[in-house]
Amino acid sequence: MTPRVWAELDPQALRHNLAQVRARVGSARIMAVIKANGYGHGAVWAARCLRELRGPGQEGRRAPWEADAFAVACLEEALALRAARVQAPMVILEGVLSVEEARVCLREKLEVVVHDHWQLALMEELPRGAEARIWIKIDSGMRRLGFPLEAVPAVLERLQARPEWKLCGAMTHLASADEDADSALLQAQRFDTALGGARLPRSIANSAGVLADDTLHRDWVRPGLMLYGMSPRGDQDAAALGLRPVMTLHSRVLAIRDCVAGDAVGYGGTHVCQAPTRVATVAVGYADGFQRALSNCGSMLLHGQRVPVIGRVSMDMTAIDVTALPAAAVGDVVTLWGEGLPAEEQARAAGTLAYELCAGLTQRVHLQSRAAASDQAALSEAVARY
Ligand SMILES: *Cc1c(COP(=O)(O)O)cnc(C)c1O
Repeated sequence: MTPRVWAELDPQALRHNLAQVRARVGSARIMAVIKANGYGHGAVWAARCLRELRGPGQEGRRAPWEADAFAVACLEEALALRAARVQAPMVILEGVLSVEEARVCLREKLEVVVHDHWQLALMEELPRGAEARIWIKIDSGMRRLGFPLEAVPAVLERLQARPEWKLCGAMTHLASADEDADSALLQAQRFDTALGGARLPRSIANSAGVLADDTLHRDWVRPGLMLYGMSPRGDQDAAALGLRPVMTLHSRVLAIRDCVAGDAVGYGGTHVCQAPTRVATVAVGYADGFQRALSNCGSMLLHGQRVPVIGRVSMDMTAIDVTALPAAAVGDVVTLWGEGLPAEEQARAAGTLAYELCAGLTQRVHLQSRAAASDQAALSEAVARY
């Protein structure tokens, strides 16, 4: 089959970006965030790229591009990774929804975030002696998840009342580290005050926190977006931060037609040609994750040149103006974002974020790793061994 829309994935870029994080955070450990199918890149693919496969008892030293742990949003995501033999430490950021889920976490050695009293009560329903792995989450100002600051001492006491539980650490999440370092530092201060002298590993920084201030790095950082080579900041692009895009999304030209002045392109005729215009129809639409908000404002890359999206993005197709490219032909490969056209820029045009573009890719998009043939062979051999 000839793929219609495909994401070309660069494992070297992913490893490079993790090593860049490592260089910034010194001795802090890295929990690579691979929720939402690795921000659309494939969680299993990302996990395999970021950990050398090792058998039991072969732990040894890690390479600078290796993650110390992974983080996902929910149990379902974690189980998909365990089913693919990703045995690395793994944290469930939203924690569990039932005692049954808590039991599965025990069996699969998953680390559970406990962010509220109802979750603590669920964990307490586990049998005595069950060695749960727990992160406590504290609300230091984002007002989304986490125990209130004043509840922390009592919660710590309840956690310590179960000596069989392993307290992996305490975490909080930053609301505005991408644009307001002071607010991030204030959150960190509240977090520290709430924890007092409690001796457990601390984790504060997402990608924006990693970049905002070294004092946010602490024991564990939790980067997501930057690992995939995208910038969480509006004022600094990924290249300036030393990051390389991991995904380059492609499609193909399906048809080309010459329009005359007055022709209206696509549903609703929202683009009216002002002059003779060469219009190429590309095989990508919002059912692939090329969002309808890119209508009349997005762009694509064809023959290395930026061309504008014209008219409405429809479910399966999108029109571009290729008047400037007389050599454009049916079958040509088009870049939708990635190398040469940052997803951040495309997102800005649509009034959204690169997070949403990548995480919004659908099942219809083929994920293809660019791994060298030798890497591929080594990988499948290693996978087959376990
Ligand atoms: C998604 C998430 C992250 C990663 O955020 P990025 O902005 O992608 O780096 C870190 N921590 C928590 C709790 C998250 O939910």
